[in-house]
Amino acid sequence: MSTTGKINVQTENIFPIIKKFLYSDNEIFLRELVSNATDATQKLKALSSMGEAKGDLGDLRIEVEVDKGAKTITIKDKGIGMTKDEIEKYITQIAFSGAEEFVNKYKDKVDKNVVIGHFGLGFYSAFMVAKKVEIYSLSYKAGSKAVRWECDGSPEYTIEEISNRTQRGTNIVLHIADDCEEYLENHKIEGLLKKYCKFLPVEIKFGTKKDWIDKGEKDEKGEVKHTEVEVDNIINNPSPAWTKKPVDLKDEDYKAFYRELYPMQFEEPLFHIHLNVDYPFNLTGILYFPKLSNKLEMPKDRIQLYCNQVFVTDNVENIVPDFLTLLRGVIDSPDIPLNVSRSYLQADGNVKKISSHITKKVADKLEELFKKDRAEFEKKWDDIKIFVQYGNLSDEKFYEKAVKFSLLKTTEGKYFTFDEFENHVKPLQTNKDNKVIYLYATNVAEQHAYIDVAKNRGYEVLLMDTMLDPHYINHLESKLKDTQFVRVDSDTIDKLIKKDDNTISKLTEADQKTLQPIIEGTVNKEQFTVVFENLSEKDQPMLITRPEFMRRMKDMNQLGGGGMGAFYGNMPDMYNLVVNSNHPLISRIMNEKDETTQKNLAKQAADLALLSQGLLKGESLTNFIKRSVELI
Ligand code: ADP
Repeated sequence: MSTTGKINVQTENIFPIIKKFLYSDNEIFLRELVSNATDATQKLKALSSMGEAKGDLGDLRIEVEVDKGAKTITIKDKGIGMTKDEIEKYITQIAFSGAEEFVNKYKDKVDKNVVIGHFGLGFYSAFMVAKKVEIYSLSYKAGSKAVRWECDGSPEYTIEEISNRTQRGTNIVLHIADDCEEYLENHKIEGLLKKYCKFLPVEIKFGTKKDWIDKGEKDEKGEVKHTEVEVDNIINNPSPAWTKKPVDLKDEDYKAFYRELYPMQFEEPLFHIHLNVDYPFNLTGILYFPKLSNKLEMPKDRIQLYCNQVFVTDNVENIVPDFLTLLRGVIDSPDIPLNVSRSYLQADGNVKKISSHITKKVADKLEELFKKDRAEFEKKWDDIKIFVQYGNLSDEKFYEKAVKFSLLKTTEGKYFTFDEFENHVKPLQTNKDNKVIYLYATNVAEQHAYIDVAKNRGYEVLLMDTMLDPHYINHLESKLKDTQFVRVDSDTIDKLIKKDDNTISKLTEADQKTLQPIIEGTVNKEQFTVVFENLSEKDQPMLITRPEFMRRMKDMNQLGGGGMGAFYGNMPDMYNLVVNSNHPLISRIMNEKDETTQKNLAKQAADLALLSQGLLKGESLTNFIKRSVELI
């Protein structure tokens, strides 16, 4: 007996609307239908374990088949199945009312991206690609009759009892629409199954594939014989690592899972974090710290978000704190609302908790590694530094924890925690105003001469050479009490760490007045300011410094900081030409009677200072070399 019915929906023609609306993302139909098949199978297993479904359940595999000739895709499960009443209720009432609600809610929305791919359209999504859908089903309940349901996308449907189905479970047959024939290609369907269903908890079969097996025989040459056989092509790994208990997994298993997730990654991860929460929200997952090859690249291998082992997205923005989006791995949570916009996600209570939980876990893990094996932690530091710095900069809670294990690296490759470093440099590097001065370099080769001078004083020089460092330095200055960062070349060493003012000068004020124009004549006056300083005889006769403030502003501008940085960014580079009043060469220039020789000596000394900063170029450099030869 066959009945026809009318789906009780208010919007007469929601089908075309929804189809058009979701066009770009219609591939999710497969995810939705295979998820339903998985749910039906899991429900049956649960009923069986409670004794409510009797007997041996047999093979529970889900199968997906493409028939290019008949233009159909069939999804078969051996789960609980549906009775006629259940189809009428769950499919024609509930599933369709869900779809109608969806249309009413979103049809006028301009921003399609808000919902696409995240709204569980369920069964209804079949109509995004099919012009007709059939359901064949037999319920697990004793005495049930098999049913066939058919609907062509209009609100009318047909339902009838059938006698030729004896297999428990459900077949969903999609008659693919003419404009969706790409879905009749095996490789397309296989690709989608691998994308969305790779870790579903029930085995999914898609055709067969060739495999080579070792039959234990040897050929004439004594080599093991392999025979080609056809085996079932199983798409998924039903029990991925994150669903297991950490105690049951070895380091090897985590690495193997990493390769399973990112087959194209050849570099091993630095370490992993296994997440497992069941209160106040549900979350499992494994995060990996990757070794980043290029610190600026945005990785295409990203954290994948799952909902009960169904792939949802690899865009975890707003769910994972920004500074951790460079991590890799899997997060699985049924508690992340997927049917809302991304901006709304940020405000969601659960999502906030999840985000701060992940932050805390990452900090705990880093602390554990630091405490367990400091040497190993130091080895990894250069790779994890970018995460920690970014975290320290952007997340106060993270900083509070990370302050214990955040490291500072010196130009000699020594590592210190913040506390250690302060204690280490305090005795020597405290200036007369009781500020501890942290000297740093951004390029060891270029700033070598200055680093050397600092080291001769017994000072320690930090290496701050990443793109985040300019911001990081500002941040640390606001955090660490009575501390100031200065780049080694931003002033003469005795001024950088000023201890007292009463150094004796070998030049009188009158001497300096005489020398000033002579030395100014050696450089571009717009760019260089000549200053006299009472340095040690052992220091260089002349040197170039770059005021800290100005340079920092320029650095920030390069990072796109805007504000004052943008203003200073447009100014030409400004330097000081420092003349060491106490150097014998300066006295010699002062006392030189022959004007040309005096000029040449001054020029030579200034050029040497420029040369050590890499500022002597082109014609000036050629002239310098000529003059040097003459002088020799
Ligand atoms: P949801 O899965 O979100 O509940 P759907 O529209 O996908 O919504 O499905 C509606 C209902 O139809 C399901 O809750 C389930 O009861 C029933 N159903 C769908 N597919 C199957 C299936 N393959 N086997 C058994 N029941 C199913």
